Amino acid sequence: TYIVNDACIACKYTDCVEVCPVDCFYEGENMLVIHPDECIDCGVCEPECPADAIRPDTEPGMEKWVEFNRKYSELW
Ligand code: SF4
Repeated sequence: TYIVNDACIACKYTDCVEVCPVDCFYEGENMLVIHPDECIDCGVCEPECPADAIRPDTEPGMEKWVEFNRKYSELW
């Protein structure tokens, strides 16, 4: 699963949204999030992000962002 972190804030360049084959990005006021259960881990969005805000959930420090992405993808 890929997850969006706070490097996305105020960027919101939406090429990642356009390439996602399963439409699992959700858009809030300040940033985008990915629904962790809907993401199929294809990785095509990662190189599209100019802010390097889309990271695999296995990277150190991403735990809190997994919960954040889950919470807000269900709210937005
Ligand atoms: Fe969508 Fe693939 Fe990115 Fe997951 S890794 S958010 S499925 S484009």
